[in-house]
Amino acid sequence: MDKIQMKTPLVEMDGDEMTRILWQMIKEELLLPYVDLKTEYYDLGLAHRNETDDQVTVDSANATLKYGVAVKCATITPNAARVKEYDLKEMWKSPNGTIRAMLDGTVFRAPILVKGIEPCVRNWEKPITLARHAYGDVYKNAEIKVPGAGKAELVFTAEDGTEVRELIHNFTGAGILQGMHNTDKSISSFARACFNYAIDTKQDLWFATKDTISKKYDHTFKDVFQEIYDSEYKERFEALGIEYFYTLIDDAVARVMKAKGGFIWACKNYDGDVMSDMVSSAFGSLAMMTSVLVSPTGVYEYEAAHGTVQRHYYKHLKGEETSTNSVATIFAWTGALRKRGELDGIGALCEFADRLDKATITTIESGRMTKDLAQITSLTDVTVLNSQDFIREIRKTMDAMGEGNGN
Ligand code: NAP
Ligand code: MG
Repeated sequence: MDKIQMKTPLVEMDGDEMTRILWQMIKEELLLPYVDLKTEYYDLGLAHRNETDDQVTVDSANATLKYGVAVKCATITPNAARVKEYDLKEMWKSPNGTIRAMLDGTVFRAPILVKGIEPCVRNWEKPITLARHAYGDVYKNAEIKVPGAGKAELVFTAEDGTEVRELIHNFTGAGILQGMHNTDKSISSFARACFNYAIDTKQDLWFATKDTISKKYDHTFKDVFQEIYDSEYKERFEALGIEYFYTLIDDAVARVMKAKGGFIWACKNYDGDVMSDMVSSAFGSLAMMTSVLVSPTGVYEYEAAHGTVQRHYYKHLKGEETSTNSVATIFAWTGALRKRGELDGIGALCEFADRLDKATITTIESGRMTKDLAQITSLTDVTVLNSQDFIREIRKTMDAMGEGNGN
């Protein structure tokens, strides 16, 4: 069989612990036998980030901006324990944070649905993709613990010295204060990333804030989205038959619970933090959540939503068998290969990505799966596989499906 040829390299960001082990297995079993894989490799494993003073992370983000598509393995975000464990020069920042800031990107998370792993919400038939605005609001706040009576004001001093003041509260006793901000630039980037992704995936886009209560702050989010939609995206949405839908956040939450799925839900920073955990746990398993970072200019970085699965890695190091789910990492690869195929006009690459997705889902639906899924499946005749054997079974399924037609 001739291997599928690529034109432009994918930016490959290797990572840490158990997912680094899976990364290698996926490449060897599921990719290299079929695709003449062209990648520009960056080792974001913690040891190498430390050796390069984290320059490798910056280089990988610049390469992503240059080529347009990256695939990333989960990486350790160092804390005090990791500084000791890896003898780090300093507590390097989260690679995801660094890359997100350089790409000015928005993260879209979506579950992979398979028969036998049913969402807790019975009417969710299709994935709900959650987009979280990852800048500002309560995450970049300023807070004061008010000790006693006094006047609290919000003050803005312009560069020319003019002031705008707003009374917050006349305190008669102790209390608390919080100041938050966001920028039109960041909200606009978020809006464009959401509209682009909706067009890209041909799904409706929902957005919600509390603009009835927050008449300037939240209302600005609503207005920025609407202005950008009307002037830049409305025609393309209508041509595709998809919808931009704005409502109040409490109404959105109520509607999501009754919906069938199959749309993108754009959330402000805090709403996204809370709702993405609710939506992903209700869909079944963190190991079945995909994640893609999309820049407002249309640069894509694909990854799994979960971390490096540290506990499994330590078992692996002790020579014990692991049953770690590689599905989200496989889908990160197929997402990236499909996007590369689309951009470079290589149909065979897109078909290969579809075939590998289908083989992965078919393998699970036939009862062959890792332990995390076996614990929650409604299927009765289940074979629990170890990390390596699950990947081998996917390869068998794919080979049995035949090549070329994606069926
Ligand atoms: P985690 O790696 O997501 O794993 C938490 C637990 O969830 C695991 O112990 C495991 O449960 C289960 N799990 C997650 N993915 C699984 C999979 N593919 N297959 C089977 N079970 C899976 O989170 P963590 O242990 O809190 O974090 C470990 C490291 O990952 C940290 O250093 C953190 O900084 C990093 N992290 C990176 C990213 C990223 O790069 N995007 C995201 C999150 C965390 P059981 O142990 O019960 O089997
Ligand atoms: Mg959270």
